[in-house]
Amino acid sequence: MENIHSVLENIYNKFTHFEDKGQQATYIPELANVNENLFGISLTTLNQEQVNLGDAQQKFSVQSISKVLLLIMAYNIEGEKIWKRVDVEPSGAAFNSMILLELEKGIPRNPFINAGAIVIADILLSHYKNPENEFISFVRRLTNDTSIDFDLKVYASEKSVGYRNYALINMMKSFGNITNLIDEVMDFYFKICSLSMSCAQLSKTFLFFANDGVDPFTNEVVLTPSRNRRINAIMLLCGFYDEAGEFAYRVGLPGKSGVGGGILAILPNKYAVVVFSPKLNEKGNSYRGMAFLECLTTELSDSVF
Ligand code: GLN
Repeated sequence: MENIHSVLENIYNKFTHFEDKGQQATYIPELANVNENLFGISLTTLNQEQVNLGDAQQKFSVQSISKVLLLIMAYNIEGEKIWKRVDVEPSGAAFNSMILLELEKGIPRNPFINAGAIVIADILLSHYKNPENEFISFVRRLTNDTSIDFDLKVYASEKSVGYRNYALINMMKSFGNITNLIDEVMDFYFKICSLSMSCAQLSKTFLFFANDGVDPFTNEVVLTPSRNRRINAIMLLCGFYDEAGEFAYRVGLPGKSGVGGGILAILPNKYAVVVFSPKLNEKGNSYRGMAFLECLTTELSDSVF
């Protein structure tokens, strides 16, 4: 731990002076109001030690990192049946791309692109009267923090300009892959994307992925070991959209990003790490976050390979 702590601190200091060539997401107007210089790191180890640096306690818009939690809920309800409606293949396209969706008859490539997460939201809506409440209760239980909430400003902001996501759901509805009302599914989808959490909360919450699906703090079985491995595999192959190859090559860990500037990564049997830095590269992933994680796993010789 001492070693990880000092390595993290050295890298963190180096990256505070980093020339960040990224651009903050502005297509969701509310995200443009976030201070683009924020920079936080949190790493939690399986023996329950946590290192927090910089803006690690600052809450930010989790965005697509939420899609992982959404998937867990649906997978635990329906099991393998969900893969009839969404695939587990890398898309090689942007998170909000339409291109493959028509060619592949409304079946999204994976649950981490927008179309895939929208199908997962539809599945949950078929099981719950109030899926938002179920989702937020699930997250609060995992984080052991009842103050966790959606950011309703971000939610309303994204909804007001969600044209592309509405296009995706309409395309899928035309192929019969959406069963509920479009507006209800989209409201739920935009809500889960607006989830607001800090690096420190996220690295603790997602630690079960490094522990065969068992929350080391509470011993709750969040996922069976087999399902845990499978979602780790999907994160590795699909967590960074058309940059998944680059992330596996440079960082070597399963993970998930969000356009709020957060990146989560897992080293099985060791730790969960979360970086937050709002400026993004062209693929929609945190520019400084990617570089930071590359440096971290290189210096520690950490990798799943
Ligand atoms: N809510 C965002 C969207 O639907 C999520 C995208 C992301 O984080 N990559 O566009």
